Amino acid sequence: MKAEAILTAVKKNGNATASASLQAETLYEKCLALARNLWWSWHPEVINLFRDLDPIRWRQLDHNPIALLAEFTPQRLEERAGELVLHSRINHAYRRLKEYVSTTPLWGRTHAGVLGSKPVAYFSLEFGIHESIPIYSGGLGVLAGDHIKSASGLGVPLVAIGLFYDQGYFRQHLDVNGWQQEEYLHTKVELLPMESARTPSGEPITLEIPTRTGPLKAKVWLMQVGRVLLYLLDCDVEGNSPQDRELTSRLYGGDQRTRIRQELVAGVGGVRALRALGIKPGVYHLNEGHCAFAALEAIREEMKENGRSFEDALQEVARRTVFTTHTPVPAGHDRFDGGLIEEHLGPLRDELGLSFEQLMGLGRVEPQNPYEPFCMTVLGLKLSRHANAVSSLHGHVTRQMWAHLWPWRMEEEIPIGHITNGVHIPSWLSWQMRLLYDRYFPVDWVSRMGEPEVWQAIYNVDPGELWETHHALKTQLLAFVRRRVSRQCRRRGESDELVEAARNILDPNILTIGFGRRFAGYKRADLILSDLDRLHALMNHPERPFQIIFSGKAHPADDEGKRIIQKIANLRHDPRFANRIAFIEDYDINVCRHMIQGVDVWLNTPRRPLEASGTSGQKAILNGVLHLSVLDGWWAEAYDGSNGFAIGHGASHVDDRITDQRDAESLYQVLEKEVIPLYYERDVDGLPRGWIRMMMNSISSLAWRFSAHRMVADYVRHAYLPAAGGLSCEMPR
Ligand SMILES: *Cc1c(COP(=O)(O)O)cnc(C)c1O
Repeated sequence: MKAEAILTAVKKNGNATASASLQAETLYEKCLALARNLWWSWHPEVINLFRDLDPIRWRQLDHNPIALLAEFTPQRLEERAGELVLHSRINHAYRRLKEYVSTTPLWGRTHAGVLGSKPVAYFSLEFGIHESIPIYSGGLGVLAGDHIKSASGLGVPLVAIGLFYDQGYFRQHLDVNGWQQEEYLHTKVELLPMESARTPSGEPITLEIPTRTGPLKAKVWLMQVGRVLLYLLDCDVEGNSPQDRELTSRLYGGDQRTRIRQELVAGVGGVRALRALGIKPGVYHLNEGHCAFAALEAIREEMKENGRSFEDALQEVARRTVFTTHTPVPAGHDRFDGGLIEEHLGPLRDELGLSFEQLMGLGRVEPQNPYEPFCMTVLGLKLSRHANAVSSLHGHVTRQMWAHLWPWRMEEEIPIGHITNGVHIPSWLSWQMRLLYDRYFPVDWVSRMGEPEVWQAIYNVDPGELWETHHALKTQLLAFVRRRVSRQCRRRGESDELVEAARNILDPNILTIGFGRRFAGYKRADLILSDLDRLHALMNHPERPFQIIFSGKAHPADDEGKRIIQKIANLRHDPRFANRIAFIEDYDINVCRHMIQGVDVWLNTPRRPLEASGTSGQKAILNGVLHLSVLDGWWAEAYDGSNGFAIGHGASHVDDRITDQRDAESLYQVLEKEVIPLYYERDVDGLPRGWIRMMMNSISSLAWRFSAHRMVADYVRHAYLPAAGGLSCEMPR
């Protein structure tokens, strides 16, 4: 009955594209229209609306509004809306969505208008848009999600292409020994905001991608993210072998062959999908090397359509291609052997008129070296004229790392620039802080988020009010931690005593530090545990104690990461730390959002210079959380001595053990001498004036600069416009 209601309502609205007029009439149809464009996910008033319909189910359903609506009949929804007087809120939200998708903001019209009919095609293997859509694993995906949300907000003509994983990335829980367990859950397609993408004549699309061992088929889904259309390819179609039907079911699951097949589908399949959709991109943006096969397919198209030679077509496509690299370690780049390349790119190679060695050469630093595997990053660098790293420091590292591709050039002449990452402010700013900013900032601040002047107004905010707001968020976080940690204990079948202790874990009145991200070894989640006696003395200081909340997943094949998780999780059996350290299982966008909004300090301890940018700290500072970090990634260019805390002096030793020792020592020193004293230094009103001042310095100097609006505007100016005009780029160094 209920699913039927959804179907009828969807049919009625047809295959609305983001810009087509929405035509919902009943309340149910309006709610559904809201749920089917991810615009809702960065509008707290719409989120609150869905939550109010049924707060408990909302939480249980991972904040998925379509799943929630599926539990209502249209009649029941009317009744519920009547009880809660929701009619005008629903109507208002619906009108705003309609208005949003049918207009192009001024910024886009004046700065990106020339991209109009030839949009940017943004390729990424993951997109982190909302916790209810499991097609991301970590920072790279969340960055892609934030990129397209800001492109939508600014009105930059852009379509996005990725893969649909029905099982996504794994869900994490820990067993009684603290060892990570991985579980893959199957998402019901009908409960996601997707529909079949269609050709201009209304046909659903099935693509075929030839390989030497037979064709791979894929269908195409459409998801609406504000004004941006996101197309997701999916191999679960008839005609594929049972194994291939599962090719796109998991993110980062499987072996090298699975990997190259996924990348073939995203890259080559992605370009073919655009053609079937009637979209002719003016610019290709490859987010990481994973999708670099797209450029090869674009070259093939160029040869076929315009009768060009391979070399000419390559130059033409390269002029229009923007390539962003994110990985500062050589081993982190995808590499494939000749056999896998020939199996999957063989048919395309024939059409390009290349020999096997010529094709392999495109993925090699030394084209003639038969022992060198095919590297996707090398391919991306060779097939693009606009290449960038994701922070200033990462730019240096990347130019050095790939210097041998341009052996006759000096480092400064290597054609790789940088555009520092940023975060989508409306997605990460808490509702409570938002209300505060609304009161003190210029009325149009939301549309001017990337402008520094706007953020100066933070100094007008009443310090007591800022502190109170932060405190409310911290209380909310603690309630969340207690709920999650006690649920974890129950799930493991632990004693009532432990469950009860978990219900009261941590202390809302003391300095609280957060650490949440993937547990890759170089991120050194356990740096702060280097000296447990010292940590114990600091954490349990009678007047100035502090506590830490950890969360994060290790890659399923990464035992080192899992051991770090285990070490942290098992501290709950150590009476010195049981009430001072909490580990929240199953880190995702939701857990991240709670943490970066509610802690006092966000801790980041990567081994320099391995964190290309990092973005979680940028989310934290928006909410008045102070950043305590190694001078790596974005922090190396953001820290000015008054807007947060630095660990170390921006140097590292050749010997990792020595670097780790020095950084640990510096971390303890900074905590002891800077962070803890500043936090506990209170005035007669009980306010930490110095701390609040630093919160203001941090917000005013960093929020606009490390926003995705600023980032996307930089891509438009320094990459998209030059690429669309066929110019080579002058990317910032
Ligand atoms: C922002 C985010 C990240 C990135 O965190 P870093 O500290 O930059 O590595 C990872 N995972 C999730 C779920 C995020 O939201």
